[in-house]
Amino acid sequence: MARRCKSCKTWNDDVDYCVSCGAVISLELSEKLEWEAKTKAKSEIPPTPSETFFEDHIKNSRFLLVRWVYFILHSIWVILITILSFFLYMIAMAPG
Ligand SMILES: [Zn+2]
Repeated sequence: MARRCKSCKTWNDDVDYCVSCGAVISLELSEKLEWEAKTKAKSEIPPTPSETFFEDHIKNSRFLLVRWVYFILHSIWVILITILSFFLYMIAMAPG
């Protein structure tokens, strides 16, 4: 399928790059490049101070007890959220 280049208006055969100006004309390739740029930009955002604190001092602590406490508290938190969302679901379904 022939494609027209957006920047120089040259018609190209089924190629990824324009033969005349070198611009990306493949829709799949341009989407892939865009996604890669987005992922790269996201990974370059520095973590917040509280995030680094958790990563460095709690989650990956050299003390086993601290890691255990983190794991237990995190588990309790997850269970609490599960129960809470269940109750919210019940409250939301009750009047209907
Ligand atoms: Zn072109």
